[in-house]
Amino acid sequence: MYDIQQIRADFPILGRTVYGKPLVYLDNGATTQKPRQVVEAITNEYYNTNANVHRGVHFLSQQATELHEASRETVRKFINARSTAEIVFTRGTTESINLLAATFCQSQMQEGDEVIVSTMEHHSNIVPWQLQAMQRGIRLRVISMDDAGNLLTDEYERLFSPRTKLVSIAHVSNVLGTVNPVRQMIATAHAHGVPVLVDGAQSIPHMPVDVQELDADFYVFSGHKVYGPTGVGVLYGKEAWLDKLPPYQGGGEMIQHVSFERTTFNELPFKFEAGTPDYIGTTGLARALDYVSALGMDNIAAYEHELTEYALQRLEEIPGMRIFGQAKERGGVISFLVGHIHHFDMGTLLDRLGIAVRTGHHCAQPLMTRLGIEGTVRASFGLYNTREEVDALVAGIERVSKMF
Ligand code: PLP
Repeated sequence: MYDIQQIRADFPILGRTVYGKPLVYLDNGATTQKPRQVVEAITNEYYNTNANVHRGVHFLSQQATELHEASRETVRKFINARSTAEIVFTRGTTESINLLAATFCQSQMQEGDEVIVSTMEHHSNIVPWQLQAMQRGIRLRVISMDDAGNLLTDEYERLFSPRTKLVSIAHVSNVLGTVNPVRQMIATAHAHGVPVLVDGAQSIPHMPVDVQELDADFYVFSGHKVYGPTGVGVLYGKEAWLDKLPPYQGGGEMIQHVSFERTTFNELPFKFEAGTPDYIGTTGLARALDYVSALGMDNIAAYEHELTEYALQRLEEIPGMRIFGQAKERGGVISFLVGHIHHFDMGTLLDRLGIAVRTGHHCAQPLMTRLGIEGTVRASFGLYNTREEVDALVAGIERVSKMF
């Protein structure tokens, strides 16, 4: 079923060398590589079907529109949304959260109202709310975590007040790998009558996600982290919620009728999609979702789980190894430091061995402050990584450690 060599053959970049060494790509949390199926679909559309969508009567425009709307259906099915009206295409997770922060705060929040986030959020789930705090005087409440990287759910319950209007949390931490209990957290929020936005940037590529089963009010993710192209992403929102929100940007596509006296807006989801959408990107995203669906999200999750367990076990054997993130439920993201070796030095030297890892604060500075560190080295796995690559990482770290 899961033929790793066949899978790897779909990703030409994995065959290249870096500094004369075979590439070991372990920076999938930042972005994933693209299979031929995605790149060829993009090229094919540019070569054969390119025309602007939704506006032409001509053949090509209709074909491009059909492809674009079929991609919306592919996304709907992938996350099991009720309707394509609930699938808004954006530039990515960051734009999805900014869209929601702006429109939700504008229409649903007053000065002094509160949004609950967690210590382990990516900056893109902190700063958009802070911008709203500056403009509208809303406030952020923050769920703490224990040293293993589990959110404190008792404390979470105590953060709710009559001023709480939204909870916005990551499904999976991009630093600790923690898989947050979003289903229960959503149920808790709903018991207080509060909707929940889930940042799925690090979950969508690695596990099956069913937005109806989670009962998420909003769910966001990026195409490029799930083997699709850059510059395209998704905001899922329950129709009842999206209906309540005002448009985000003005322009073509998002209107029904424009006059200087009065403009009316388009129906969902187009109300939120001003201007020419990245219709080629949505095709690429749909082919990427087809690709992972063909492998099976359960199979990918099981494969990556086993690989992560192996990596954790091997890494823990290294003297001086400190792994950040020991939650029981964790994904294939491993943040670490070794002895007193600076994360940047470790990353740079691993790179000379052909091993691509991420170093730094990973856009989660409040989390770094909580951990009392400035940054980590982060290895993050994708569906094509292997035990041999984990072994190469371990050997690389041991070699660098000896140099210090
Ligand atoms: N949220 C999380 C948890 C992430 O890991 C990332 C990217 O690393 C983002 C949001 C932002 O994603 P993007 O840069 O694709 O908008």
